[in-house]
Amino acid sequence: MKFIDSHCHFDFEAFSKDRDQIWQRCISAGIDRVIIPSVCEAQWQSLGSLVSEQPGWMMAAGLHPWWVEKVPQGECRQESLTELGQRLSDSLEEYSCVAVGECGLDASIKTAMGKQEDILKIQLDIACSQDLPVILHVHRAHNELLRLLKQFRLPRGGVIHAFSGSEQMAQEYWKRGFYLGIGGTITYPRAAKTRRAISCMPLESLLLESDAPDMPLSGQQGMRNTPENLSKIAQALAELRGVSVQEIADATCRNTEKLFSL
Ligand code: ZN
Repeated sequence: MKFIDSHCHFDFEAFSKDRDQIWQRCISAGIDRVIIPSVCEAQWQSLGSLVSEQPGWMMAAGLHPWWVEKVPQGECRQESLTELGQRLSDSLEEYSCVAVGECGLDASIKTAMGKQEDILKIQLDIACSQDLPVILHVHRAHNELLRLLKQFRLPRGGVIHAFSGSEQMAQEYWKRGFYLGIGGTITYPRAAKTRRAISCMPLESLLLESDAPDMPLSGQQGMRNTPENLSKIAQALAELRGVSVQEIADATCRNTEKLFSL
């Protein structure tokens, strides 16, 4: 059985001591490909060289809303944003990135939504011109995000990473060409709404992701998450939908390969 982790921060400090050992165990468990999104500009170069070490490691380049706060106010002038966009475009090409991301909107942080939107728009624009999918982080800002997605009409769509929400919301994204990233959330019984939504959506719309080192599974709270947990997420998804783990593995691999042109 093969799995692809469509979202893992494998370059983070949390893995600096045992990344290679974890990766060997992942390969033994059939998890032989992982997409590593970036969250800030300072990471692009080092992540680029990290992914060149292993054929199964693939990179996405972007600016996460949590890091937007650190973009100095002066950098938000139009000419500076254009330069930032140019540097992102160059990195996407230089490191053969499979997607733009992770980027998005988050209403639970104090950074003004206008500033977040300005930085996201540059990235959506680049996804259009470079014909790449986008990896989106969205928290309490679904309406704002959907408004932008209507405006940009991304040719390759993307994925709503760590999807959590209603079936209606899931359908809104899927209708516009956005897959749903399924991670540890579905292992929590209290995530009833999301579990229900995911059990109703077509299997063709789902990708597996660990979001490691974050998003621990139920029962592992406070512990470091690793991509090895992907098989447990697949197991939970199989139980939720009443199908075999093999079926989940095959479908989610196919979906991930299709979205990211792997
Ligand atoms: Zn992430």
